[in-house]
Amino acid sequence: MSNYYFMNFQQPAIINISPHFAVRHKVSLDILRLDLIHPVISGNKWYKLKYYLQHAIDNKATGIATFGGAFSNHILAAACAAQINGLKSFGIIRGEKPKLLSHTLKNAVQYGMELYFISRKEYDNKEMVKERLKDKDLFWIDEGGYGTDGAKGASEILDGAAFDKYSHIVVAAGTGTTFAGLIKKIKPHQQVIGISVMKNNYSLREEINSLLNNNERKKNFRLFHDFHFGGYAKNNDKLINYMNIVYESSDMPLDFVYTAKAFYGLQKLTEEDFIPSGSKILFVHTGGLQGNLSLPKGVLKF
Ligand SMILES: *Cc1c(COP(=O)(O)O)cnc(C)c1O
Repeated sequence: MSNYYFMNFQQPAIINISPHFAVRHKVSLDILRLDLIHPVISGNKWYKLKYYLQHAIDNKATGIATFGGAFSNHILAAACAAQINGLKSFGIIRGEKPKLLSHTLKNAVQYGMELYFISRKEYDNKEMVKERLKDKDLFWIDEGGYGTDGAKGASEILDGAAFDKYSHIVVAAGTGTTFAGLIKKIKPHQQVIGISVMKNNYSLREEINSLLNNNERKKNFRLFHDFHFGGYAKNNDKLINYMNIVYESSDMPLDFVYTAKAFYGLQKLTEEDFIPSGSKILFVHTGGLQGNLSLPKGVLKF
């Protein structure tokens, strides 16, 4: 039986930064740079995929199949992780096939992924799609890697290094799988803060709860819905300027879909004293920088 290729890997770097707001409000701020662990399988996706790919290997599946949009970090990560592990990959993509493939999808194809474009209506009926590809003997992974095995993999983000010293751990939440993984691992003196990147996605709380057991549901975590900048994958000049300022002051590139909104939320929560002075904050940089390729050239200074 072979193991997931990445089973043994180096702990990601932790980098201390001191932006003005952190100095002014007397908090320490460390960044867990998951964006640096692999050039393609960015950040949290690596952890979320781990047990799914392990199951695919153990079940002797010929490949994996999963779902996503045209700019999905998950789709690209799944393609690359599958190829490294000798598995085929199939991406079920929401919407009509465009004349020009996005950077994300082009790269996914380069990593051997076979793409199926389906209408939004069909996309909502996942069983029908699965039925169509039934004889390919595939292991299916939910959109965004959502699920208990995804959360189990994500919980390993907090394995290994000395994380006990932090009082607050902050992360972006899409499906909430990574957030749930962190909740599993925190100690009683710690709080995890999730910044939802979608607009009014209030069902997220329940989706996160269903990845947790009874004890984990009582842990200290908070979800915020105020920092979506108009909705999922939406951006504006304010967000783009903010990303440039963070890069210039702290040498940290952010992506506009997830980490920029989460980091902005972290700053606001610190300025509003929700995160009080004296706190030791760990911001989990979940990667996703390839998504910035969909922005017009030149708007970012990195
Ligand atoms: C996918 C992704 C997330 C969201 O992770 P979930 O586990 O779905 O909440 C956060 N940040 C980045 C950069 C991502 O690519």
